[in-house]
Amino acid sequence: MTKNKKKDLGVCPDCGGPERRSRENHRLPLAGEWGVTLEGVEITHCAKCGQRGVAIERLGPLMRGIAAAVVRKRGRLAAPEVTFLRKHLEYTGTRLARALGVTGPTVSRWEAGREPIGPSADRLLRALVLIHDREADGFDPAQFEAIENGAAPVRLTLRKDAKGNWAAAA
Ligand SMILES: [Zn+2]
Repeated sequence: MTKNKKKDLGVCPDCGGPERRSRENHRLPLAGEWGVTLEGVEITHCAKCGQRGVAIERLGPLMRGIAAAVVRKRGRLAAPEVTFLRKHLEYTGTRLARALGVTGPTVSRWEAGREPIGPSADRLLRALVLIHDREADGFDPAQFEAIENGAAPVRLTLRKDAKGNWAAAA
């Protein structure tokens, strides 16, 4: 836990009131009810108007870090994870359906949680993400053999390293 490790004073851009900065764990919503926890991100909080802000300098490395953890999860992809990975690929539902060889309504049912993604489509979606993020070389395909059928969304806490890369905290 890195709560309130650093504190200093700033000025609120909205009202000019005194602003407190601290490093806190922050819950980032991603899709549906699912989200991840970011360790020790800078939070600003205005003492006068109550305005709260979160500073995440670059979203790209963060989204890649989340995607890298999701494609390595042991359970089947859950509905919000399918939505997250599709958006990470910048695909529409129709395009993802074409890429996976299924129909658009099938993708809609997966994302609405009305039907679990099939085991082959699950693995192919992960492979598309690995190729998209050019991470395929560092991935052990044997991990696909260990994927189980349960589909709870992954509980994930991410930490940023000195190079600005985000990865799952142990
Ligand atoms: Zn303010």
